[in-house]
Amino acid sequence: MNNSPNNNTNQNNNNNFFNNNPLLAFALFSIVIILIFKAVVGDGEGLGNMVNKQASATKQVAYSDLKSLIKEGKIVSVKLTPTVIEAIGDDNGRKLRYVAQNIPTIDKEMVPLLEEKKVQFEGVMGGGWLSELISMMLPILIFFAIWIFLAKRMQKGMGGGILGVGKAGKMINAEKPETRFDDVAGVEEAKEEVKEIVDFLKYPERYMELGAKIPKGVLLVGPPGTGKTLLAKAVAGEASVPFFSVSGSSFIEMFVGVGASRVRDLFEQAKKEAPAIIFIDEIDAIGKSRASGAQMGGNDEREQTLNQLLAEMDGFGTNTPVIVLAATNRPEILDAALLRAGRFDRQVLVDKPDYEGRLKILKVHSKDVKLSDQVDMAIIAKSTAGLAGADLANIINEAALLAGRLNKQEIEQSDLMEAIERAFVGLEKKNRKINELEKKIVSYHESGHALMAELTEGATRVTKVSIIPRGLGALGYTLHLPDEENRFLKQKHELLAEIIVLLGGRAAEDVFLGEISTGAGNDLQRATTIIKDMISVYGMSDVAGLMVLEKSQNSFLGGGMAQKDYSEKTAEKIDEAVKMQLDEYYALVKKTLNEYSGAIEEMAKVLLDVEVIEGEKVREIIENFEKENGMKSRLAHTKKVEQEKEEANHS
Ligand code: ADP
Ligand code: ZN
Repeated sequence: MNNSPNNNTNQNNNNNFFNNNPLLAFALFSIVIILIFKAVVGDGEGLGNMVNKQASATKQVAYSDLKSLIKEGKIVSVKLTPTVIEAIGDDNGRKLRYVAQNIPTIDKEMVPLLEEKKVQFEGVMGGGWLSELISMMLPILIFFAIWIFLAKRMQKGMGGGILGVGKAGKMINAEKPETRFDDVAGVEEAKEEVKEIVDFLKYPERYMELGAKIPKGVLLVGPPGTGKTLLAKAVAGEASVPFFSVSGSSFIEMFVGVGASRVRDLFEQAKKEAPAIIFIDEIDAIGKSRASGAQMGGNDEREQTLNQLLAEMDGFGTNTPVIVLAATNRPEILDAALLRAGRFDRQVLVDKPDYEGRLKILKVHSKDVKLSDQVDMAIIAKSTAGLAGADLANIINEAALLAGRLNKQEIEQSDLMEAIERAFVGLEKKNRKINELEKKIVSYHESGHALMAELTEGATRVTKVSIIPRGLGALGYTLHLPDEENRFLKQKHELLAEIIVLLGGRAAEDVFLGEISTGAGNDLQRATTIIKDMISVYGMSDVAGLMVLEKSQNSFLGGGMAQKDYSEKTAEKIDEAVKMQLDEYYALVKKTLNEYSGAIEEMAKVLLDVEVIEGEKVREIIENFEKENGMKSRLAHTKKVEQEKEEANHS
């Protein structure tokens, strides 16, 4: 990646003349092209035209007629070219000019005829085959010449701009958006995180005086249509700075070097108008990891563009208040170089909205339409689980169109429901919709995880439970945050707790729905790996005792690749032990779930309703259930437990 700037400098030196005089260069270039064109193609016709102009008594004749004239002895002299014959005739002393165009290329009789009639003749240079060859190749040559010319210019990124390519300013619309944070709804956390940027842009001096380093790049990560562009615009709008917006894919064009040059121009312009926001949508189009497989074509171009982007971001000092916001829905494929310090070292998650978020978004978008008083947005929000902001905006608009078609004065609930249905029909193909059954399964599954996490000592407590699909694969998630950070050691009971929590999902489906789904596959895999590691890597079981059977990998869940150091027989024993222990824990988990069925039902109900439960609420539900049933609290994370822990730590 490091040679390409060098390449550029070499080319710069070679083309100094053209680069410094772009207009002149273009003029010269055009003249040369025109001359070539005239010399080759224009040849025949040009001559004909000249003849026409000079002699008023010029007659256009057919080739056969001219031949007859020669035979009749009415021609004195002839000029032959591959495409035109010009003949001077003598009509009783009066000079006449005959011109025959579109002559046959090969006429073996012509020259003998002229000799026979003693006509003076001469051939005009045209080199039949050569000119034909050239005229055939000419279009290709011209195209090639233009292409090379443009490519070189683009690489240098000179101003001027031929055909509007190369001058990024023409393609990049710097606007001053009217968008405000209020227009972006349902993504509160993301909003909080970018609010700081507004301050940087508004009062850059403040930060500079303090010597603070203003962040250069922020990566907005999230599924399509969740409002990343909108959020970036709102930042610019709130700070009232110019907003330069480009799409990553628009950088990748057919002319080599255009992308890099556009990036250069983009930054140049933004710096000129600083403070400013640069927004790069679909940054993955240029920022794809170089390791992620070379694709044919466009690769060089992409790499050049990416290098240019990195160079620009490294180039401007921390005292230039230009902040680059970039959006992607596939952060995992981005080149690591992009995420390094001083580049896009901040990431902001712009996730799909939960129930409350959808309600807010719907409200934002229904401001500009006429809604009937009867419309219940809560129902609409509830029926649109899994949809992003853009989908919701579409639904409102679609409903307005439907109402209009039916000649209604206001949008009614039925229009909205119809619009939702249409949205889902479109989405079903993309497999984004979670249907009611799936929602129910996921609700119980996640509730199972959450309950076990709260009741098991050594497990990390629940921060948030959600049934909103997150990216590909996971239909829901239970978020656990460890109490203490940077823990490298885990005790046996913590590993066991992890297994128990993982089993909670599947067990809940089993107990409450009487049927199990494929959703627990990943959980079970992880649980199995932990047990196996406990036995064979950490020496935590009776099967192998302290004998370590596999060379440890670097992490707890690394598993898999460890070198086996034991016999088949031992392997069988281990497998047996793993299965036995899994079964044992599974039974235990099911027993607990049965005891706490009321709490699970309650959690699942809330989840189905609002899709997200905070950790506090989970604990509240469990505690209430225990009280109602006169049970001794088994909550593992109550204050008492924490106090005990603290005392233990102090002593
Ligand atoms: P992304 O850039 O994440 O793909 P956009 O910002 O382009 O999504 O969203 C497209 C449109 O959808 C926005 O212009 C807006 O009308 C609507 N929209 C998306 N998310 C939100 C949101 N969180 N709040 C309000 N409107 C939204
Ligand atoms: Zn699970």
